[in-house]
Amino acid sequence: MIVMKFGGTSVEDAKAINRLAEIVKGRRDRKPVVVVSAMAKVTDALVAMSNAAANGALPEALKQLRQLRQRHLTVLGDLVSGKREAEGRAEIQQQFENLQDVLRGIASLGELSPRTTDNVLSYGEVLSSRIIAAALASRGINAVHVDSRKVIVTDNNFTRAVPQEETTDRFREVVRPLVNADKVPVMGGFIASTPEGITTTLGRGGSDFSAAIVGAALGAKRIEIWTDVSGMMTTDPRLVPDAQRIDAISFDEASELAYFGAKVLHPATLIPAVEKNIPVYVLNSREPSNKGTCIRSQAPKSRNMFRAIAAKKGARVINIRSPRMLMAHGFLRAIFEAFDRHGVTADLVSTSEVSVSVITDSSRDISALLEELRKLGKVEVETGKAIICLVGENVRGRVGMAASVFSVAAGCQVSLHMISQGASEINISFVIEERDVPEVVRALHARFFPAKPESKSGVRETDVVAIPQPTDVEAVEVA
Ligand code: ASP
Ligand code: MG
Repeated sequence: MIVMKFGGTSVEDAKAINRLAEIVKGRRDRKPVVVVSAMAKVTDALVAMSNAAANGALPEALKQLRQLRQRHLTVLGDLVSGKREAEGRAEIQQQFENLQDVLRGIASLGELSPRTTDNVLSYGEVLSSRIIAAALASRGINAVHVDSRKVIVTDNNFTRAVPQEETTDRFREVVRPLVNADKVPVMGGFIASTPEGITTTLGRGGSDFSAAIVGAALGAKRIEIWTDVSGMMTTDPRLVPDAQRIDAISFDEASELAYFGAKVLHPATLIPAVEKNIPVYVLNSREPSNKGTCIRSQAPKSRNMFRAIAAKKGARVINIRSPRMLMAHGFLRAIFEAFDRHGVTADLVSTSEVSVSVITDSSRDISALLEELRKLGKVEVETGKAIICLVGENVRGRVGMAASVFSVAAGCQVSLHMISQGASEINISFVIEERDVPEVVRALHARFFPAKPESKSGVRETDVVAIPQPTDVEAVEVA
């Protein structure tokens, strides 16, 4: 059994949903469970609507609601006909009537609680999953809609609810028999409910998390995250046209990359799957034959020293210098407590006997934080910096690795502001001027990711490791 999760752009309209249907058809013999996001931009629209209602702009909220209803009705009409369409229309109308009542309630109270926010946001996935279940059923797939709120049980930490153990039992009772009966369950991602049945959500972007929860609860052979890019790349292809697709990457490597701005998906959401050793594939719904990237708890060694290079622009260096630090043991704590109080995250840190340098991103106003830091020492801020981060399990304990990285940087005649080798020992990061990013990344990529030899078919040879592909015959099913 496998989990196939489709993100917002992979279900954005009838065309995308038709592609999805073909992809699911091709996997029918693998007993798929389908998890879907809301159609692209729908969750944002729901956020905007609920805010408008809370801020006294109910007419605006209701106008947006009508547009959203129309969009869903159009997609349904493009996908199914006859009795299925009539039933689907009635269902959509009903859902939007309920949503309208909720928005009116928000408007009359002038208040939007986290619990109500989750109620409003849930409509995106409630609707998309029903439409997609109907579309699959009308295309000869034995699809059944399963309301995720009946099976994914969470605490009542609204807007970022945490799944509870009971979830596994419910999957065993509700979803497993459907799979065994060769049905294809279709579920909305992101949404869940408390044991009492109050709607919750798993946090924005939470459909990947749902996929991991479903996969873990059912002991899936693999989880497929279908999106609009062909997996993860060795670096940003806009900077380096030669960037290569990463065949396989470890969970730790993927996490480091996510932290430094590689935005395909957030690996933290895959933890339930990784803990159960279930491989997660990132695949492209617009190019289904592309092998994508496999994320697993332990990825095989790559033939290159590094797995990928990430660059995060918009970095800011905060230097805090204090002779007092020589004696005061509470200095670091005081600094990081200040960061914490102001909700500012440190991307990189380096310390010396009398100074601390912290890198943060420069998108937000930190004047209040700086004021506090000035009480601790002399503060200097530099902006216009970028963090370059090279990641790879191969780096662990490798002699001469840092020297070869820095010699490439030296060859570009750029100076390095801060150097850090992560405690995980699978990355090395340094800070440069933003304007030097393209040159440095290109030079590093050329040095550490030599072009792969072309195979006879004209297709690039993949890494030394073979990754089981969807067409592989699956091992015996465990019920
Ligand atoms: N629709 C939700 C969001 O946009 C969840 C998801 O797509 O993963 O945040
Ligand atoms: Mg998403």
